[in-house]
This record gives sequence, C-alpha cells and structure tokens, in this order.
Amino acid sequence: MRLFPYAGLVTAAAVLLPLTAALPAAAAPAAPAAFAASCPTAGVITQGYSDSHDGVDIANALGTPIYAVGSGEVINSGPASGYGQWIRILHDDGTVTEYGHMYQRDVVVGQHVQAGQRIALMGSEGEATGPHLHLRVRIGTSTTVRGIDPVPYLRDRGVNLPCTPGGGGQGTVVTAWAQANVRSCTATSCAVVSAVYPDESYPANCWKTGQLVTAEGYSNDKWIELPLNAGGVGYVSAIYLKGDDKGDVSRQCG
Ligand SMILES: [Zn+2]
Repeated sequence: MRLFPYAGLVTAAAVLLPLTAALPAAAAPAAPAAFAASCPTAGVITQGYSDSHDGVDIANALGTPIYAVGSGEVINSGPASGYGQWIRILHDDGTVTEYGHMYQRDVVVGQHVQAGQRIALMGSEGEATGPHLHLRVRIGTSTTVRGIDPVPYLRDRGVNLPCTPGGGGQGTVVTAWAQANVRSCTATSCAVVSAVYPDESYPANCWKTGQLVTAEGYSNDKWIELPLNAGGVGYVSAIYLKGDDKGDVSRQCG
C-alpha cells in the first residue's frame, strides 16, 4: 500500500519536512544505505576469506545455479586466469562482485542484471578441485586490488552465508518512496549517516518508536533500523517507506 500520492508528496516534503529540508543543497548526496542482497548460491562454505584466499568458496553439485548478489552491470564475462571463467558485476554502491569457476555463463558484458537473477551454473573450471563458486568482493573495478571479506559484506546487506537462494530467511526488506535521510538515532536532530532513494530496497533490522514526523496530514513516530555500508546501523522515519506504518517491518528493536 502506498500511503501518499508520490508527486505531490515530494513537493510537500521539500517544503514541510525537516528531514529532507535539512540536507544542505550544495552538499554531495549521502552514500546510499547498503542494498538488499540476494543469496549467491546454495552450498557449503569450504574455504573462507583469509590472507591466502581472497574470497569465499561455496561448494555444491556441478550445475548448481549461481545468482547475482545485487543488481548492476556485467563488466566481465568470459575466460579468466585461474578461474577458468569469471563474471564480474558492478553494483550501484561501487562494489564489484566476482564469480569464478563456473561451468556455464548466462550473461554478457554490458548486460544489466537484477539481484537474484541467475547468471551462471556452478563448475570446477580453472584451478579447482571440485565444483564450487569462488565469490570475491572488491571496492571499485580494479582487478588487482585486494578484495574484502564477502561474509560481512553480505551480512550488512541482509544475507548470512551459507544461504538459501530465492528468499526464505533472507531477512526483511524495506522500500523507500522518496529520498530521505538515514540518521544516527530516531530524531531529526540526529546526524545524517546515509540516505535512502525512491523505489530502492534496503535490508532492515527492526522498528522502534522515535520522534513524530508529519507529512501531508499523516503522522508517524515509527523509525526503522537499517544496517549501513560502513558498518553499524542508522534510522529512517517509516513515513518515507512503502507499506504499513512500520514499512512492513514486523520485528521491534530489542
Ligand atoms: Zn576460492
């Protein structure tokens, strides 16, 4: 359920709402909150991230489907040293997810993929002792920079490895209908730590009661706790989220 007529509210929000109006006009837009990730594949973690292993290995049967962790643009799809074959996807937040050893690739360079879209079938091409996905995460598009640990990267985006593709235990997701600030606590006086953007979805932890926010004759004192890209959490007024008065988040913060 959409609570407000979209176009009218954006105008009204800019005039009436301290949450939006408090964004300095000249400042760079706040970094987006972490996107809601999808499970990359089913399987067993056979090797984690370490000094000698830049990524995480998820093993399963030959031909197990592999899915895009998030929406983005395919920037590599083809043969790659050590990997046999690889696929790389650039996401909107500037991170790149890298998938290796597949038996079959389903996407081509330049293609835009959605989170959870099937991109490949698991294989043991290249330097591999059995069928598995090597998942690496890098900040930016460099192919030489050291990656970051995929486990906390995915956890910050609502997916805990090992995971089950296609939902089921993937956690709660909220969708914003307008741009809004994410703050360090549940009041408009709290520091801006991130932002949400129209029609984008974000993993959510829980809801709590905070400052009453009013727009277009509606009032809402519920705030939603979101995990942040940089670690930690932030809060967005639920008045900016689609769904019920808690953005369809059922769990109350403890
Ligand atoms: Zn590996």
